[in-house]
Amino acid sequence: MGCAIKLLEAGHRNLVIYEKNKGVGGTWETNRYPGLTCDVPAIAYTYSFERSCEFSRQYPAWNEIRAYCQMVSDKYGLKEFIQFEKEISEATYSNDQWLVKTSDGASDTADIVIMATGVLRNLNYPDIEGLSSFEGTLIHTGRWDESLDLKGKRVGVIGTGATCTQLVPAIIDDVEQLVLFQRTAQWVAPFEGGNPMITEAQREHLRKHPEYLQKLADGMLDKIEKIVDGILIDTTGKTTQRIREQCDERLAEITDPVMRNQLTPDYEPGCKRLIWSETFYPAMQKDNAQLETNGIECIEANGIRTQNGDLHELDVIVLATGYKMHDYMRPMKIKGDQGQLLDDTWAQGEFAHRGIMIPGYPNLFMVMGPNSPLTNFSVIEVAEWQISYFLQLADLVLQGKAASVAPNPEAVQKFNDQLKERTPGTIWASGCNSYYLDQNGLPNVWPGSVASYRESMQSPDLNEYIIK
Ligand code: NAP
Repeated sequence: MGCAIKLLEAGHRNLVIYEKNKGVGGTWETNRYPGLTCDVPAIAYTYSFERSCEFSRQYPAWNEIRAYCQMVSDKYGLKEFIQFEKEISEATYSNDQWLVKTSDGASDTADIVIMATGVLRNLNYPDIEGLSSFEGTLIHTGRWDESLDLKGKRVGVIGTGATCTQLVPAIIDDVEQLVLFQRTAQWVAPFEGGNPMITEAQREHLRKHPEYLQKLADGMLDKIEKIVDGILIDTTGKTTQRIREQCDERLAEITDPVMRNQLTPDYEPGCKRLIWSETFYPAMQKDNAQLETNGIECIEANGIRTQNGDLHELDVIVLATGYKMHDYMRPMKIKGDQGQLLDDTWAQGEFAHRGIMIPGYPNLFMVMGPNSPLTNFSVIEVAEWQISYFLQLADLVLQGKAASVAPNPEAVQKFNDQLKERTPGTIWASGCNSYYLDQNGLPNVWPGSVASYRESMQSPDLNEYIIK
């Protein structure tokens, strides 16, 4: 939506947005699991050119963020450009044009293609023996069925990431029994300042004074930036230490020493994406909650069997097992300028130039591509920097000044060599298994400060690109 708004503002109306879903909002359209909120303050999770305070709390429920997306789409007249329930299956570059095909057999050509497909999209179904043999309800959090009634049910949850820590507190009082199957403990930090309400009086004030709203959002982003940078680049380790102390304080509130020990991670905070929750530990201490740390042996018709031979009989199994983060826009079949497939180009690991373009794939731009800063920062903010950067390149084609633009392989090599040099020293490579790591064990995120990425997205150095 951000790309489309900027293209429309520049007068480009020959634009089609292909959307797989029935409505706008991406992750906020498809995710419906109980407890879903955004752990970035909502006011800071808005476009810089369309700040909003129409939220009930600092971290509101998912539907308020979806409503924001719908408002933006309506306000900027995007619906007339969107083809809903249209999934792109193939994109092929030939003669300075992209031929895009949809899964229903339709096709179209385009001078430029922007892949804004997100990263939390292809569900990760765990490779557990017997998964399909379960006779109860098996559900992934990313495809929640809102009609599912968990009242009085015995529920098993697999996975202890950000999704689990939101889901468990939201369902614990409904279910008869909840068993959480934990493979790896996560650091859970408290929300500083909790999740305060935004009152109608406050909203009214902010509506009347958009400059305060902007200042408020800037302040929130600044605070997150300091935390993200602190974890990543503060060589004194002060931020990590402070977060660790806050996490430890919360862990200390767990009264059962066995559970406390089981919930204590054995790696540095920030190595996996940090989780913020005030409600997860209290929920896990309720009488009907059980933490299971024995590995899963298999899933059977009646429940989950652990490696110690125990069978947990269950009515519902919830997979909070996340996403295939390294798919990016795949399974789309993408063919570049020599007929090469993206699957082959990325066979040894996903890479891009500055997170936004791939050599050999001219006029194809990505939002949140490989090595984009993806940690605890606002993705909307990062996407805006990327959009503003690559539209300067796309403009050369759209204005007819160039037939094509693609990153120069030498510049890409240099850029990726620099990343490879810097990533092994980062917190993500400090000794944990996380989705940040690619198949080579290297973190696929931006290894510098938030500001350094923002600066790198100011304006393209044309020497890094082949412009035909
Ligand atoms: P996730 O962080 O990838 O966590 C997946 C969990 O499933 C991990 O605990 C993992 O264990 C476990 N798992 C995977 N395969 C397993 C298997 N075969 N057996 C046992 N356990 C298995 O997924 P997520 O919680 O859905 O979160 C994904 C991302 O979504 C987040 O990091 C965040 O970027 C985003 N998110 C954001 C918000 C927000 O508020 N902004 C909320 C929810 C999600 P291991 O740790 O051992 O691999």
